[in-house]
Amino acid sequence: MVLDAEIKAQLTQYLQLLENDVLFKVSAGEDDTSKKMVEFLNEIKEMSSKLSIEHTELPRKPSFSINRPGEDTGIVFAGIPLGHEFTSFVLALLQVSGRPPKIDEKLAEQIKGLSGQYHFETYVSLSCHNCPDVVQALNIMSVLNPGISHTMIDGAVFKEEVEQKDVLAVPAVYLNGESFSNGRQTLEDILAKLGSGPDASELSNKKPYDVLVVGGGPAGASAAIYAARKGIRTGIVAERFGGQVNDTLSIENFISVKRTEGPKLAVNLEEHVKDYNVDVIKSLSAKRLEKKDLIELELENGAVLKSKTVILATGARWRNVGVPGEEEFKNKGVAYCPHCDGPLFEGKHVAVIGGGNSGVEAAIDLAGICKHVTVLEFLEDLKADSVLQERLYSLPNVTVIKNAQTSKITGTDKVNGISYIDRATGEEHHIELQGVFVQIGLVPNTDWLDDKIERNRFGEIIVDERGATSLPGVFAAGDCTNSPYKQIIISMGSGATAALGAFDYLIRNQ
Ligand SMILES: Cc1cc2nc3c(=O)[nH]c(=O)nc-3n(C[C@H](O)[C@H](O)[C@H](O)COP(=O)(O)OP(=O)(O)OC[C@H]3O[C@@H](n4cnc5c(N)ncnc54)[C@H](O)[C@@H]3O)c2cc1C
Repeated sequence: MVLDAEIKAQLTQYLQLLENDVLFKVSAGEDDTSKKMVEFLNEIKEMSSKLSIEHTELPRKPSFSINRPGEDTGIVFAGIPLGHEFTSFVLALLQVSGRPPKIDEKLAEQIKGLSGQYHFETYVSLSCHNCPDVVQALNIMSVLNPGISHTMIDGAVFKEEVEQKDVLAVPAVYLNGESFSNGRQTLEDILAKLGSGPDASELSNKKPYDVLVVGGGPAGASAAIYAARKGIRTGIVAERFGGQVNDTLSIENFISVKRTEGPKLAVNLEEHVKDYNVDVIKSLSAKRLEKKDLIELELENGAVLKSKTVILATGARWRNVGVPGEEEFKNKGVAYCPHCDGPLFEGKHVAVIGGGNSGVEAAIDLAGICKHVTVLEFLEDLKADSVLQERLYSLPNVTVIKNAQTSKITGTDKVNGISYIDRATGEEHHIELQGVFVQIGLVPNTDWLDDKIERNRFGEIIVDERGATSLPGVFAAGDCTNSPYKQIIISMGSGATAALGAFDYLIRNQ
């Protein structure tokens, strides 16, 4: 039995939603994974009379495609879509059967309007929580446009391919055999990359907003909802809806929700915002802000939006270590997300730079997958909580090197080592290894703002108790501000404060 009772129970409900017959075309060999995949599909087939199986030859074994009888959709899963990809499999099944994907009508039209042949391949790991978004987006594109096909490839099953292509970060997407993208992407991102993004002049012609929020993380979502609930014209521009919560798995301190997962919370944030009359502009970033009669916000595609007030909620991003080799070997052994990319370093030696909570958590996580983990901490002591340190020191395959300043990451076509300077002696040491996870905190996404908005020496926007910045009419909230603590619930609170502050400002300055 591949499916446990709980999954079977869930699946039974979903399979009732199948609209029409679906045919699995299966390409299997004699290996254990092939046998397990066939067993997996047979178990599912037995659960609905609408499902059938046919054997065929596909470029990869084991793999299977999901089709309408007499019509191939181009959706292929190479490997067994369990773990985080199980949802991708179920959604593909429902969509192939005729249930329309839950996307905006405009996006569906954009996809259908793409001409040409696009064969996408996505390398994933089943423990990667960013991968399903990409797999699901590309599957939707395959369902809607006959010129598009997509294969999800489990890197753990197709190890040779992964090594040959030097895939060291997932999701890694290839289009017609060429590298297309790395990391999480939304449907909008993919369409924008294919040259089918929103039109700049259409955006510039939008009526001015009362409140325009920049950023779609917890702070931005909260600000948009609070503003919209006042019945004023509200817009939100978000490069990546959900923000940092997309990068974490388990969230246990979002009060009143005992436990949730980051990507799930990100979806909930977007759905909650869309429940209100908010004009949502996704997958575009702001690059300039200027105060004239109204406040103008220029986007990366040249569009200029106008608003009476603006709330900056652009959050923060991973801090780079800034040593030679980091940029060169990004996605080629230099990684930032242990949950996503850890499995690609199975049985290998990796380093974690940073001994704070995130670094030590990453090291503990990686120690379960990798042969050896070396933690490099700049200071004389680790800064992580003592319970984490105890757990770390109890692991047999972890070495902690303190007082170590990383000096370079070395490699040829991918990482082969790391050098550090022992700060006590000044001596440089080199360790041969295959991966480096950088975990040294975050920097605020505020470098695109000019000096008219006061920021502290860390680049954080300085706000008062109402979320107001030094530029009248511009407010800020969340991790991009000088708030001393950076947490989801705190960002949401400050987003609400900034929206109420902006509303107050509008009343007094109409
Ligand atoms: C690995 C990890 C685990 C975490 N775990 C927890 C936890 O368990 N509990 C907890 O409370 N907190 C946790 N946090 C912290 C929490 O995620 C942040 O405090 C919170 O997400 C901050 O929200 P925010 O809206 O201010 O910013 P962000 O979440 O960073 O969102 C910023 C938004 O702005 C957008 N943006 C940025 N620049 C631009 C631009 N120029 N134009 C347009 N849009 C832009 C981004 O795309 C994004 O939509 C964790 C963080 C990380 C990285």
